[in-house]
Amino acid sequence: MIGLLGGTFDPIHYGHLRIALEAKEALGLDEVRFIPCRQPPHRDTPGASPQQRLELLRLAVADMPGFAVDTRELERDGPSYMVDTLASLRGELGDAPLCLILGQDAFLGLPRWHRWRELTDFAHLAVVRRPGPSAPLAGDLALLAEAHRREAGRLRAAPAGGICFLETPLLDISATRIRELLRSGRDPRYLLPDAVLKSLRRSGLYST
Ligand code: ATP
Repeated sequence: MIGLLGGTFDPIHYGHLRIALEAKEALGLDEVRFIPCRQPPHRDTPGASPQQRLELLRLAVADMPGFAVDTRELERDGPSYMVDTLASLRGELGDAPLCLILGQDAFLGLPRWHRWRELTDFAHLAVVRRPGPSAPLAGDLALLAEAHRREAGRLRAAPAGGICFLETPLLDISATRIRELLRSGRDPRYLLPDAVLKSLRRSGLYST
């Protein structure tokens, strides 16, 4: 089964890398593909360009066998809709089981995603824990989770269609905080790989 972790990665940090590894081990994934989105959501802080985010991501996964970067969202014009990405992967990979890894915050925001009910047509969803406000599942999302809920060990039996919740350790790391630390002249070391931090220091990205 192939794991997929979509994100802005602005920049990539140990929260991303650790949940990818936790999911890889918990689900017996053959690989995890990190999929940077083209257009980061609008915000006031300076963000990196897609090319800069991609370079940092490549530095972060370079020494990890089983982690790879998939650039299809960067190459596609228009908004990066995950449902299109999953459809494109499905077209390439035939019946291989696919599993989209989502932090709890991303999962709770799913009803705002384009054609979100169709995501489980193309992949399983694995939800990992993340610190932050945790509202109980409600409405259509609760119905989706109820209808598709599976044990983690059963996901690989089908190409798509299951949702599992993984009891992963909480890691209070966010790209927002790392950008804030850099902007205020503080040190984000130990929140992200040294190679990524070195590159950020060289380029001055997020520091001004
Ligand atoms: P930002 O602070 O800029 O919003 P972010 O740190 O949330 O960024 P994203 O690139 O938006 O990072 O996240 C990509 C995916 O990784 C999402 O599914 C998100 O929930 C998950 N994720 C990011 N950080 C963590 C973390 N510390 N623990 C669990 N999941 C995480």
